[in-house]
Amino acid sequence: MKESTRLVSAGRNPERFEGVVNTPIVRGSTLLSPNMAHWADKNRRHADDEFGVSIYGRYGTATHHALQDAITEISGGHRTMLYPSGLAAIASVVTALVSTGDHVLLTDSVYSATTQFLARTLKRFGVAVTRYDPRVGGGIARLIQDNTRVVFVESPGSETFEMQDIPAIARAAHARGAYVVMDNTWATPLFFKAFDHGVDVSIQAATKYIVGHSDAMLGVATCNEASWNAVRETSQDFGQTCSPDDAFLALRGLRTMSVRLRQHWASGVQVAQWLESRPEVDSVLHPALPSHPGHALWKRDYTGACGLFAIALKPVPEPALHAFIDSLKLFGLGLSWGGYESLALPFSPAGRGSTQWPYAGPGVRLHIGLEDPADLTADLEQGFQAMSRTLRGIRGGLAA
Ligand SMILES: *Cc1c(COP(=O)(O)O)cnc(C)c1O
Repeated sequence: MKESTRLVSAGRNPERFEGVVNTPIVRGSTLLSPNMAHWADKNRRHADDEFGVSIYGRYGTATHHALQDAITEISGGHRTMLYPSGLAAIASVVTALVSTGDHVLLTDSVYSATTQFLARTLKRFGVAVTRYDPRVGGGIARLIQDNTRVVFVESPGSETFEMQDIPAIARAAHARGAYVVMDNTWATPLFFKAFDHGVDVSIQAATKYIVGHSDAMLGVATCNEASWNAVRETSQDFGQTCSPDDAFLALRGLRTMSVRLRQHWASGVQVAQWLESRPEVDSVLHPALPSHPGHALWKRDYTGACGLFAIALKPVPEPALHAFIDSLKLFGLGLSWGGYESLALPFSPAGRGSTQWPYAGPGVRLHIGLEDPADLTADLEQGFQAMSRTLRGIRGGLAA
């Protein structure tokens, strides 16, 4: 079956719920058994980690199990855990795979809160972290130590969009007995088959494209068999769970995910190409553009692109940058991405370990939503005009 077909059917079981198309929101803490024999049987199956058997709401209800089942089916892994946010998934998975005295290799362009978790919280438990250049490829072998347990990858990187050679990194990591944990939020399982490329745990901030409507927080981690038990046990020990209402929203989002992503991809490339022609722009950081240094890797390993990329502007004073952002009417100013609406967010990638922002001007991260791309480029164009007016005002003031 093709992917869009699987997205429609995955995790659905209408016969169980009086024929309703969508698995309902099943709320519950107590899950009653009719008698002791049933209770004992259910406890044994729960202890054996049988899929879909729950003895308590914290381990999920039918709504959670439907989402876990669907995510596993489209991701291609063994089993999936759910978390109250993407960051909770990342923190829980890394914690599951390391012990005191272990070492983690962390890509430099990782989501910033991931760095903070490792550098601040995990460090207190005696886990060392080395950050590496995302473009290291097979050269990662030289950085792997005897105590390296996790190589954390994110491709393309947050804000700076470097592509990583995941198969080369995975070969080197596995040769030394380390797990490869990937933040696959950008590509989603639709555009990057993590398990076919050597990843052991594939994490997504479901908050982004799976939920897809900017109205819920959720994280998912899909494991291969080798990593599943450790990830499951630690997640359960920390009491990780999420609300069935949010799981329902994620299931609903999945049904339209392939059409949404195809549109985000097409519109994103269209806007990115337009930006490449603009005199205000130094560089467009979008892996699907042939000008991107990681384009060959993207072409080799990925089957699509989402709507998120960045631009490096030519150097502008802060008031001119603010005039650009403030004048945008269709691009919201705020965190997150992956919803149906466009966003623009200036950033300065500070605090990186081994790589530097190579541009003289500031970066702006853009999320291209489901608006018409012609309206989006028109909005950006009037934004650049507002930026120029402010620049002229500053220069006029200096001359006077
Ligand atoms: C947003 C994001 C996260 C964190 O997800 P939350 O649900 O906000 O905790 C992790 N990784 C990437 C790449 C993200 O963009």
